Amino acid sequence: MAMEQTLSMIKPDGVKRGLIGEVIGRFEKQGLKIKAMKMLHLTLNQARAFYAVHKERPFYDSLTGFMSSGPIVALILEGENAIQVNRDLMGATDYRQAAPGTIRADFAKDIEANIVHGSDAPETARTEIAFFFNALEKV
Ligand code: UDP
Ligand code: MG
Repeated sequence: MAMEQTLSMIKPDGVKRGLIGEVIGRFEKQGLKIKAMKMLHLTLNQARAFYAVHKERPFYDSLTGFMSSGPIVALILEGENAIQVNRDLMGATDYRQAAPGTIRADFAKDIEANIVHGSDAPETARTEIAFFFNALEKV
């Protein structure tokens, strides 16, 4: 196992539904350290840039509209195997397939509005962290 950093977002539905504390509590209980955190409202163009990897997918326009519909919280999480640990806390993309006790199984009601984002690999973690945070914003 390696010490890793990963990028997490609490999506607009998570913020609107008052789940910021619940989600961050799960990160901390699992031993993930918060190395940076901010709330911001993505523009449509910023959401499109963040999700550019999905630009050919049928859900891209809807997803980026949703992701720019309200404030989000972006965080850098750090720990042993942090990328997978965070993905395990999140649960599967489709809440109907997410394991019981995961964030998405417990709270999501929609495949698009599924509360959280988490990087899926070391290279995406690096790019996604750099998308949101500069050196001065990290502890
Ligand atoms: N998404 C969607 N419909 C789909 C698949 C994905 O609306 O059929 C949305 C959902 O919000 C998901 C995001 O697009 O979290 C990015 O998709 P990805 O496959 O990367 O899932 P994730 O890594 O977030 O689990
Ligand atoms: Mg993904």
